[in-house]
Amino acid sequence: MSQDTYRRVVLKLSGEAFGGGAVGVDPDVVQAVARQIAAGVAVGVQVAIVVGGGNFFRGAELQRRGMDRARADYMGMLGTVMNCLALQDFLEKEGVDTRVQTAIAMAQVAEAYLPLRAIRHLEKGRVVIFGAGAGMPYFSTDTVAAQRALEIGAQVVLVSKNGVDAVYTADPRTDPNAQRLDDITFDEALKRELMVVDQAAFSLCKDNALPMLVFGADDDGNLRRAIVGEQLGTLIHA
Ligand code: UDP
Repeated sequence: MSQDTYRRVVLKLSGEAFGGGAVGVDPDVVQAVARQIAAGVAVGVQVAIVVGGGNFFRGAELQRRGMDRARADYMGMLGTVMNCLALQDFLEKEGVDTRVQTAIAMAQVAEAYLPLRAIRHLEKGRVVIFGAGAGMPYFSTDTVAAQRALEIGAQVVLVSKNGVDAVYTADPRTDPNAQRLDDITFDEALKRELMVVDQAAFSLCKDNALPMLVFGADDDGNLRRAIVGEQLGTLIHA
């Protein structure tokens, strides 16, 4: 392990990453994701993963279409668990030991979220996959990724994005002068109103000086690169 390799990371995968742009889970996509994570784990990095659920349901969208927000959010959280199980399956096929821990109890399919046990799994080289968000409506999985990282003592939150490879000074799709940022402080990001994760997630990282790497997952190999600490995307730090 090189000196600047992370010891423990939390990787946030969006639901979009599982569906390949469609509703549900695309096994080919999940297999490719699992292979990259396995390659990162092989280097000795302890990897915990927070999985989104936008490929199934987003509470806010269902609310706009007439559903009760809290109930819709629970549907969203249950969607994340399906992604967790798919990822667990493909990671195990790659020879990686895994545990799924959920914030909503479902004893037949996953352990309950227990931070000390999660740390123990990580120390044994297992990948821990956190599902069901925070178990609370009105939260996002970005926020959960920051919270879990703080609670289990991860050194960084790796936030993978689809359709964008880094943070820019402006939207690169509409502004030809947009500049790509390799790194930026939390204060500077706030000042420039560069909100790459939701505000709650950003505040948690900022208030606790927990670095956040925002990077694009579209290029093959980027998940592995991010896990092993290669320079890519944008590092937001104190
Ligand atoms: N969600 C929630 N509480 C949480 C995490 C998630 O209510 O702690 C719900 C919320 O409805 C959200 C959905 O689960 O829209 C899916 O999560 P998210 O939108 O964060 O997934 P992603 O956009 O990363 O795929």
